[in-house]
Amino acid sequence: MYDVIIVGGGNAALCAALSARQYCERVLVLERAPEDEAGGNSRFTAGLMRVVYNGVEDLRKIIDLSEDEVARTDFGAYTTEQFLDDMARVTEYRCDPDLTELLVKESFPAVLWMRSKGVRFTAAWGRQAFNIGGRFKFWGGLTVEAVGGGPGLVESLTRIARKEGIDIWYGARAVSLLAQDDGIHGVVVKRAGNTQQVSSKAVVLAAGGFQANTEWRTRYLGPGWELAKVRGTRFNTGDAIRMALDAGAAAVGNWSGCHAVAWERNAPEFGDLAVGDQFQKHSYPWGIYLNAEGKRFVDEGADFRNYTYAKYGRVILSQPGQFAWQIFDAKVKGQLRDEYRIRQVTKVTANTLEELVGKLDDVDAKNALEEIKRYNAAVRQDIPYNPNVKDGRRTEGLAVPKSNWANTIDTPPFEAYAVTCGITFTFGGLKINNHAQVINSDGEAIKGLYAAGELVGGIFWFNYPGGSGLTNGSVFGRVAGENAGKSASAA
Ligand SMILES: Cc1cc2nc3c(=O)[nH]c(=O)nc-3n(C[C@H](O)[C@H](O)[C@H](O)COP(=O)(O)OP(=O)(O)OC[C@H]3O[C@@H](n4cnc5c(N)ncnc54)[C@H](O)[C@@H]3O)c2cc1C
Repeated sequence: MYDVIIVGGGNAALCAALSARQYCERVLVLERAPEDEAGGNSRFTAGLMRVVYNGVEDLRKIIDLSEDEVARTDFGAYTTEQFLDDMARVTEYRCDPDLTELLVKESFPAVLWMRSKGVRFTAAWGRQAFNIGGRFKFWGGLTVEAVGGGPGLVESLTRIARKEGIDIWYGARAVSLLAQDDGIHGVVVKRAGNTQQVSSKAVVLAAGGFQANTEWRTRYLGPGWELAKVRGTRFNTGDAIRMALDAGAAAVGNWSGCHAVAWERNAPEFGDLAVGDQFQKHSYPWGIYLNAEGKRFVDEGADFRNYTYAKYGRVILSQPGQFAWQIFDAKVKGQLRDEYRIRQVTKVTANTLEELVGKLDDVDAKNALEEIKRYNAAVRQDIPYNPNVKDGRRTEGLAVPKSNWANTIDTPPFEAYAVTCGITFTFGGLKINNHAQVINSDGEAIKGLYAAGELVGGIFWFNYPGGSGLTNGSVFGRVAGENAGKSASAA
């Protein structure tokens, strides 16, 4: 008999396990993946976390910063109000107000708590700051990164969990809940071909969304979603959502919505841990997109990447042939993110625009050339370009505008990268309250059942502010673990 069983092996699950362990003795983590593939989507990440901080002094509580680093960096601040505003704006005011407030207000305390457990953090110099005139400036509210990225985060959480005497079973797939009228009493698990019942006083579900389930994806997100590539783990097939629904839980949130991005066109069907998140192609704000018809189809500069990348995957999926090309010229080449320099890219280069459009596979070259010229002619070159702010350097008079960072595509050599849609995680899921208790379809908490992370619905809708997924798992994992641990020790 365990006090608390945690279903899942990613960031939300491991935070829940560490948190539960503070309040009870016997904690078991069930991870469906074998050990070499364990860690869920969390392991595929860069480890970026969206966290409220009111200035560099807050950051110094979680990151070891030298005087020199502080002197040459403008960290700015990311306030509670800014995070709340970002959540409201990108979710079109649908995010659950109570859960969102908890997510935002507990973001810094959660990371501080992880730090106190031994997880190490750094500043995301490489991805979220540009060096202008010898000084780095952070932008877009995303400054904190786990040391070692997602793999480093999962490794350190796992190490700490083991040190604290938490049992971890790998290759252990939760199949159903042991549910009775008075609540949840454990989990049915399939492990090494054997199905067994494991009893516990409380259960925390943290087994991710249903993005790796082709049939559910097509059923809930809609026709065409079976054609998307899965960016992360192949193990998040919605098992825990189904288990909870079977036990009477309420479904909530944006069930037809998901986080999906521009992803290497020829990437494998599921994520590859050796490549991690590097199949993504997120420098489109500095260039333009063209589809098979040779047409631009989206405002590449509508906002900072952090606020558009998660909804543009869906836009790419809806293009003819489910692909697009990103086009850059030599002026912005130095600004392309590290993921453009991996070996596994579908890339063409050319010295003239005529040559370039002829090399874009499956694209109408004549239309493409005309479109680039039309775009170039529409750029407001009188407005200075500045990648650190929304510079308002825009196009004028195009059916599909570019609102910021509109640079002309005129300086060779030119580069183009082919992308398709990569799905990250689904937005619909289980309903929880502020104690992370799972709510049933009559609006009551199911005794002994808690949930955290990707499988919780109601928080993200349509879009998502970059770096909120890990924070979401840490905040609610910590809350779920605490309440499950306390209820178990009181039982
Ligand atoms: C390529 C990529 C890059 C990303 N980058 C970032 C980033 O930099 N910052 C950020 O905040 N977010 C990022 N995200 C999103 C982020 O990964 C997720 O939001 C977050 O990790 C979800 O954590 P989780 O613990 O809920 O789920 P996961 O980490 O996916 O964990 C779910 C776990 O459940 C296990 N599981 C599934 N079914 C069962 C079952 N039946 N029984 C037992 N176990 C089961 C899985 O094996 C897995 O271990 C990225 C995602 C991807 C794919």
